[in-house]
Amino acid sequence: MQAHYDFIVIGSGPAGRRAAVQAAKLGKSVLVVDKGRRVGGVSVHTGTIPSKTLRETVLNLSGWRERGFYGRSYRVKKDIAARDLRDRLLITLNHEVEVLEQQFARNRVESLRATARFLDPQRIEVEMEAGERHELTAGKYLLAVGTRPYRPTNVPFDGKRIIDSDEILEIATLPRSLAVVGAGVIGVEYATIFSALDVPVTLIEPRTTMLDFVDREIVDDFIYDLRDRGVALRMGVPVQTIERADDHCLVRMVNGRAISTEMILYTAGRVGATDTLNLEAIGLDTDARGRVTVDRASFETSVPGIYAAGDVIGFPSLASTALEQGRIAALHAFGHPTATPDAEHFPYGIYAVPEISTVGLSEQDVIKQGIAYECGVARLRETSRGHIMGLTSGMMKMIVSLEDRRVLGVHIVGEGATELIHIGQAVINLKGTVDYFVQNTFNYPTLAEAYKIAALDAWNRMTR
Ligand SMILES: Cc1cc2nc3c(=O)[nH]c(=O)nc-3n(C[C@H](O)[C@H](O)[C@H](O)COP(=O)(O)OP(=O)(O)OC[C@H]3O[C@@H](n4cnc5c(N)ncnc54)[C@H](O)[C@@H]3O)c2cc1C
Repeated sequence: MQAHYDFIVIGSGPAGRRAAVQAAKLGKSVLVVDKGRRVGGVSVHTGTIPSKTLRETVLNLSGWRERGFYGRSYRVKKDIAARDLRDRLLITLNHEVEVLEQQFARNRVESLRATARFLDPQRIEVEMEAGERHELTAGKYLLAVGTRPYRPTNVPFDGKRIIDSDEILEIATLPRSLAVVGAGVIGVEYATIFSALDVPVTLIEPRTTMLDFVDREIVDDFIYDLRDRGVALRMGVPVQTIERADDHCLVRMVNGRAISTEMILYTAGRVGATDTLNLEAIGLDTDARGRVTVDRASFETSVPGIYAAGDVIGFPSLASTALEQGRIAALHAFGHPTATPDAEHFPYGIYAVPEISTVGLSEQDVIKQGIAYECGVARLRETSRGHIMGLTSGMMKMIVSLEDRRVLGVHIVGEGATELIHIGQAVINLKGTVDYFVQNTFNYPTLAEAYKIAALDAWNRMTR
C-alpha cells in the first residue's frame, strides 16, 4: 500500500469496481477500500447475485418451469432444504469474487480490506479489522459505499425469525410460512421465490398499489398470477407492530387483523451506508436516507474532486446502472468526459417468479404526457415456443405513438422477460417504429416472436 494514489475508491460494488478499472486503464494508480470480508459489495454478497442464484436454484430444484406441463405438484427434488440453496450460492459467489480479484490484479488495481473515513477533502483514514489505522491521500475519490437494509428500531430483528434481506441468505432452515413486509422489488422477489418452494407466503404492503413504476396492466397480470398460486396479499393497511412469540411471529395490522407466521422478512427500503464516512469533515450533506447528491452528468459531488456513484446516490439503485455511473465518474475525474450522453431509456428487471421487465414509457406515462397512443398485447402462450415450454402465463405489452409510429414502451411479465426486453430497448433507443417488428422475420419458435404478435396487434388497430 502506498501513502498516495491518483484515485481512491471506497466500496467494491459495481460502481466502485468499474470506476477503479476504468481509472487504471487510463494509467492511474488506484486503491479500492472495502470493509467487507471479500470484494464485490452488496451486489455480489447480499444483493443481486445471491438473490438471482437463489432464484435459479429454486426454479431448478422445484421444477417450477416444468409445472405448466406436469402439474403444480411436480417437483425435481422432493425435500429441498436451506443447505441445497446455500451450496450453489457459495459456488457462484466464490466464482464472482475470483473473477473480480483477477480483474483487479490484471489492471493493477490495489485493494484493501478496511473501513474508510474522511479527515478532510484530500485525506482519509483507513481502519483495518485488527484496529490498525493509516492515513492516505488521493487526487480524486469515489464514494461507492452503497446501501444497507433499513431497520426501524420498533421491529425486533433477531436474525433468525425476523430478518432483513441480508439475513435471509443465511437462514438455517426453510420456514413453514413466511410473511414479507414491503412489496418493493426486493420484497416481491423473495416472496415469489419462497412461494415457488411451496412455502405459504403473505405479502404485506401498506399502500394499495405495488411496483408503481411498472405499467399497471403488467402489475395486474402479475398480481393475478400471485393470487392464483396462493400468495396472500394484504395491501392498503399499515403494519402496527411486529412481535416474536415462542414458535411463531405476529404481524398486527392497524385494522386489528393479525398474521401469524413462522418467519418475517422485513424489506421496507434501504439507507445509504454513509454514516461511517465522516462526511462532515468534507462538508458533504446527506438526505434523510443517508444518500448524497451528485451532478448527474459527471457524478461529482458538491465537493470538487469527490465523486459518488451507485446506490449511495439513489434512483435507480441497480447494479446495471451503478457500473455505468462508475465508469463515467472515473472518465470525468481524469479529464475524459464521455462524449455521448447516456441512452434515454434503460431496462428495469424484477427477478420475481414470474419475471417482470420494462423499458420506456408505461401506459400511465403516455396518458399523463398527453401522447396519442395504441397498445399491442401478446400472450407468451400464443407463441410456439411458449407451447413447447408449457407456458400458461406471461404477456408482453407494446406502446406505440399514433403520431410517428415510434415504439414508446415495452413491458413484459413472464418467462425470459429480463432477456427479451433488450430487443425492445434497442428499438426504442434507436428511435424505431412498430414497422420494424412487423417487417422483420424472427427466429421461430422463440419467445421473441411475442414482439411480432404484439406489434401486429397494435398495427392492426392503428390501420383500421
Ligand atoms: C436483494 C437485492 C437484490 C437485487 N437485485 C438486483 C438485480 O437483480 N439487478 C440489479 O441491477 N440490481 C439489483 N440489486 C441492486 C444492486 O445490488 C445494487 O444496485 C448494487 O449493488 C449497488 O452497487 P454499488 O456500487 O452502489 O455498491 P454496493 O454493491 O452497495 O457495495 C458497497 C460496498 O461499499 C462498502 N463500504 C460501505 N461503507 C464503507 C466504508 N466506510 N469503508 C469501506 N467500505 C465501505 C461495503 O462493504 C460494500 O461492499 C439488488 C439489491 C438487493 C439488496
